[in-house]
Amino acid sequence: MIVRPEANPRLDLRGLFDAQRDAHAREPYPSLTRRHDRLERLAALIEEHEQEIVAAIGADFGTRPAQETRLAELFVIAVGIRHARRNLSRWMAQRRVPTPLYLWPGRSRLLRQPLGAVGVISPWNYPVQLALLPVLAALAAGNRVMLKPSELTPRTSALLERIVAQHFAQDEFAVVTGGPDIGDAFSRLPFDHLFFTGSTAVGRKIALAAAANLTPVTLELGGKSPALIHADADFGAAAARLATGKLLNAGQTCIAPDYALVPTSRVDALAAAVRDSAASLYPSFRDNPDYSSIVNDAHYRRLTELINDAVRQGARAVAVDTGAEAPDASSRKLAPTVLVGVNDRMAIMKEEIFGPVLPIEAYDSLEQAIDKINARPRPLSLYMFGGDAAARRRVLEQTAAGGVTIDDTLLHFSNENLPFGGIGASGSGAYHGERGFLTFSHQKAVFIQHRLSFTWLLRPPYGKRFERVLELLKKIS
Ligand code: NAD
Repeated sequence: MIVRPEANPRLDLRGLFDAQRDAHAREPYPSLTRRHDRLERLAALIEEHEQEIVAAIGADFGTRPAQETRLAELFVIAVGIRHARRNLSRWMAQRRVPTPLYLWPGRSRLLRQPLGAVGVISPWNYPVQLALLPVLAALAAGNRVMLKPSELTPRTSALLERIVAQHFAQDEFAVVTGGPDIGDAFSRLPFDHLFFTGSTAVGRKIALAAAANLTPVTLELGGKSPALIHADADFGAAAARLATGKLLNAGQTCIAPDYALVPTSRVDALAAAVRDSAASLYPSFRDNPDYSSIVNDAHYRRLTELINDAVRQGARAVAVDTGAEAPDASSRKLAPTVLVGVNDRMAIMKEEIFGPVLPIEAYDSLEQAIDKINARPRPLSLYMFGGDAAARRRVLEQTAAGGVTIDDTLLHFSNENLPFGGIGASGSGAYHGERGFLTFSHQKAVFIQHRLSFTWLLRPPYGKRFERVLELLKKIS
């Protein structure tokens, strides 16, 4: 059965949702074997369709290196599935928790229970990874899942719809394609959990829609992630790692370093080092299959306008020397660009860049750098290069960010043992590894009374016995 939400979105969406809810009611606690089977089918789905996925994402972007799709999408999902399969029986096990003296000899347990039918809404920038990583956590936790991928990568979303239907029953895991109107209808379904990855503006709408149903939400949003370069950092190494993190997928990465904070006297040195690193990673950019295109014309125009606005207001663009190569609107290849002399009035310092442009902001003291970070909305990631233990501790303790990588970029994302998520404007809730399993589980508190309970001592009629027992409890608890 293929769901065609375009025909009658609310009716079909609702029908699909009801089918998933009914299926959950029939099997509210899928066995370990059943969950392993679902994870195996998810692994098979990406293995068997690797070529098609690489081709669809490539066609949606214009240029998207197959290597980046294989590494940042398919490998990441495969690692997540393997990690979940290895740990699933431990994650599912009932936990014993201590019981206070006054409840003895009763016992206390925690049961990790599936939530039911959950929704996942995903963005375009890593259109398979950001769709299937939350799905794998939801399936591992024993849920039924509906996924609404992005309309900006239409070939990839259509492929996902087709191949998921080949490997999963619709009431197990189903894909619904469509744009913001379908997304809006989708977010109004009374899911048992709604997991959204995308922009802060749409995240706000999702939270409002979910509130009407008291549906809990996880919001994986974006923002301006700073890279703080300490005065004592190795600038050559920092620049190479910064350029790599910034230019993967041409900067269209939610955790890409958005801007760099650099000691005033070292701004030009870092700009030159980043430019040189970018040039060695991508000696040319227009016809270079290793360098991604910007996803569509609107984003290409937005990025060139951000650069032009900054330059109009006095910033200096340090573009990679690409010889005769001019920016190419038709292939949407934008040259890696470093901007120096930026200030807060420029649009580029106000909004998330999401492209291959690195503004460098100067600072005079570590305290000032920390103040600059804290003056902006809380970012998804923070990167710090160099600094002794005391400086690192100061930055870690005095700034807020979803996650941090020290002396590199992006890598905290790829450890399944670290929760991934934002804080404040960059999101709420988290996933990856066991944290993802818990996001899609209810931790049911269970107290098991003993036949020799003493709680009757506190029953009415109240009198001396009650007072004496309460006094005793106060002393022993
Ligand atoms: P977006 O918010 O425009 O779209 C995300 C999804 O929401 C799409 O599937 C879209 O169809 C849907 N949608 C749009 N309007 C909707 C509505 N009114 N109701 C319900 N659904 C709606 O985001 P995008 O442009 O696809 O992605 C880029 C943004 O995502 C950036 O801000 C980036 O930082 C962020 N992002 C965050 C993470 C993370 O893990 N935290 C990862 C990748 C991207």
